[in-house]
Amino acid sequence: MSITQRSELDRAISRATAAGVEVCGHGHMKVTHDRLFCVASQRDQNHWHIVRLVAGSDGSRLVCDCPSRVICVHRAACHMELVVEAARREYAAAQVTASLERDSANDRRDADRWELIEAGNW
Ligand SMILES: [Zn+2]
Repeated sequence: MSITQRSELDRAISRATAAGVEVCGHGHMKVTHDRLFCVASQRDQNHWHIVRLVAGSDGSRLVCDCPSRVICVHRAACHMELVVEAARREYAAAQVTASLERDSANDRRDADRWELIEAGNW
């Protein structure tokens, strides 16, 4: 991502945050299985914009159905949602790793106890 794109994203995130624009629905395209997000329109609260997460050979990108030519608040809201989602997954993975390491330590202690029991040294 270039510096220009990054600052454009930062501006879009600022606009989305200031306006309280956030993802209000999730789903998948039936045929392509692309993830999609619903983001309420700022102009009409009864209208949602559909933002698709499209996987390509050069990575994934967000495609919004609005006419904006720059990074829109809808894509910025989805980007923030994906960043939070990734952080939650990373946290959950760290929790699982810690749990497995605790289990492994307990298994080693149990194995040590069984060795002592089997050797008649307990
Ligand atoms: Zn948009």
